[in-house]
Amino acid sequence: MTANTKVNIISASLGSSFVDDIGISISNFDFSAIDFSRCVVFPGFCDVHVHFREPGFFYKETIASGSLASARGGYTAVCTMPNLNPVPDSTEHLKIQRDIIEDSACIHVYPYGSITVGQKGEELSDLDGMAPDVIGFSDDGRGVQSDDMMRAAMKKAKALNKPIVAHCEVNELLRGGYIHDGAYATQHGHRGICSESEWAQIARDIELVKEIGVKYHVCHISTKESVELIRKAKAEGVDITCETGPHYLVMDDSMLQEDGRFKMNPPLRSKEDRNALVEGIIDGTIDMIATDHAPHSAEEKSRGLENSAFGVVGIETAFPIMYTYLVKPGIITMDRLVELMVINPRKRFGIELGCDYSIWDLQEEYTVDPAEFVSLGKATPFEGWKVNGRCLATVCDGKLVYKK
Ligand SMILES: [Zn+2]
Repeated sequence: MTANTKVNIISASLGSSFVDDIGISISNFDFSAIDFSRCVVFPGFCDVHVHFREPGFFYKETIASGSLASARGGYTAVCTMPNLNPVPDSTEHLKIQRDIIEDSACIHVYPYGSITVGQKGEELSDLDGMAPDVIGFSDDGRGVQSDDMMRAAMKKAKALNKPIVAHCEVNELLRGGYIHDGAYATQHGHRGICSESEWAQIARDIELVKEIGVKYHVCHISTKESVELIRKAKAEGVDITCETGPHYLVMDDSMLQEDGRFKMNPPLRSKEDRNALVEGIIDGTIDMIATDHAPHSAEEKSRGLENSAFGVVGIETAFPIMYTYLVKPGIITMDRLVELMVINPRKRFGIELGCDYSIWDLQEEYTVDPAEFVSLGKATPFEGWKVNGRCLATVCDGKLVYKK
């Protein structure tokens, strides 16, 4: 059997060169144990928003464990956020992370440089020095509060032709909140995070982008107001893209439980917000799916909604969740999912697709069990969910990097 004759290849608008690559590569490997008649091959997924915790917090995740978890999720390229120790805010600090990536990543890992020194919002990082070695600039985990600081960062990023990737959050609107300021928070006596804390900073940034003209991308949008602001900005020709995470598309605050695995920032919002996000991925307002994969130790996630660390893992469940809960019910097409997980992130961030792909059995049904995760982080709101789609193997740069 020649493998490539029986495989369904989802190539969307990738063109024939990719298909040729697949044909050549598959025939080079011994995949004889795989029943290709029920398999689909996808071009390597690309996640522009992950946290791999190294250097600084290797007990939560390492670049080795995070990149292997990504491969298990069908990803061959990821971009890592800079909330590390040391923060990549200079060439010297960035080099520490780049050396670990060089030594231990099994897929393509592209670091962000921080926008401000130590992500403190007070002083610009060495954007010039880091530019050749970073995919863009972000202070993810914190919003840049000062208008002047963001303006200066955008001007510099524009001159360097790098994107500003913004975690939008107005600190003075947070008021100690940790879940959505909605029905669940009220009923259960929790402090809420209002939607305005997100969209107000997006609105500010859109005005700055109009003034400066930088390539601008918004992280993990979660509110209906954010969707509307970005829709309008796009219609006006602003150079803006955005992402949302799988959890915001299939969950809302009515599904919260008193458990740290339901705590992330931004939080799960209302049903109306969730519906607006789904509308946004259908009409193209939202460009891409990013997981915001954010592992923590079991202890850090064991303190309930109020006291657990913010962040959940997602890189190993993103495709099965999107396929099972958006594609199978006909909410979006498979081609649209490939745009959201492969084509749009790669186009926007200039990440080429080489001989990178994953092979999936889409018929296999199973229950999400964090004990099976390769990631060191196990806290997922999808624990116990029934999904379809099992990654059987992932190839990056023509090399087998994961096999079930
Ligand atoms: Zn993040």
